[in-house]
Amino acid sequence: MTTAPLHLGISRCLLGEEVRYDGSHNRDNFLTEVLGRYVEWIPVCPEVEAGLGTPREPMRLVGDPQNPRLVTIESKIDHTRALKTMAVNRIEELKKLDLSGYVFKKSSPSCGIERVRLYNEHGVPSRKGIGLFAQAFMKQFPLVPVEEEGRLCDPTLRENFIERVFCYQRWQDLVQGGVTRQTLVQFHTVHKYLLMAHHPQQCEMLGRLIGQAKQYRLKELADRYGELFMNTLAVKATVRKHVNVLQHIIGHFKKRLGVHEKAELADVIRDYHHRLMPLIVPLTLIKHYVQIFDVSYIREQVYLNPHPKELMLRNHV
Ligand code: SF4
Repeated sequence: MTTAPLHLGISRCLLGEEVRYDGSHNRDNFLTEVLGRYVEWIPVCPEVEAGLGTPREPMRLVGDPQNPRLVTIESKIDHTRALKTMAVNRIEELKKLDLSGYVFKKSSPSCGIERVRLYNEHGVPSRKGIGLFAQAFMKQFPLVPVEEEGRLCDPTLRENFIERVFCYQRWQDLVQGGVTRQTLVQFHTVHKYLLMAHHPQQCEMLGRLIGQAKQYRLKELADRYGELFMNTLAVKATVRKHVNVLQHIIGHFKKRLGVHEKAELADVIRDYHHRLMPLIVPLTLIKHYVQIFDVSYIREQVYLNPHPKELMLRNHV
């Protein structure tokens, strides 16, 4: 695990700062108290930074889903230009900060990443909108993991997001350190089982890309790999795919287990498969055997330790 603090962007109101239109905040305890121990937050409030002040009249998205406008609800003042100008300038600053992820405030016409209310000319809402700043950010940083604080209450989505954040940080470290074909092979090797837990076929595609490395210029190879790597991790890992990975890992030392040890491991994996126990249980047993039998190829797999254990992201059923 890398120990450098993560740089994560965040909607400023989620840190407890009173920047909402009515002067309140949306402090999120998990982000501030738990994840905050590993993160250097980069707070952004697009509406305040666009000069709209606090408190301010609430706004909403209106018009064309492809090109919505940000308009105040009562006085109908159009703040689209101010928000877009702010977004261009702030994104230039964020480019220098090597963000590994971003947590946005859900449903906000500036910060929401999906399903934001968008009103048509008759004042009828649909859930087709994306916050103006969030949209500009995602366009500029298509590989940076983004999530909304509301979705982080789901344990599976939470693990997926935080895992991607750490993976992206490692990817950035590799690229900034000067990627070579050899370091790319090493990077892929240690991430193999993690990738398999998300999308086995795309994991194979990444393996083939590495196998054909000499056919590409290095920059093109790294760009292709980085994009497919992050897209693969964005696919949700499921219990079934985790079971598949656990079986593959066990294959590396199964012959060295006694009858009772094999039966115990099979029981634990079956219970995990039936959601009677969390992933951490079979993994802990597997890590124990990996240590005992000194299976270095498995010991180095990021899959065994993708994020700090103190976050307890694999302790849910
Ligand atoms: S949702 Fe975004 S624009 Fe609204 S208060 Fe929070 S940070 Fe500011």
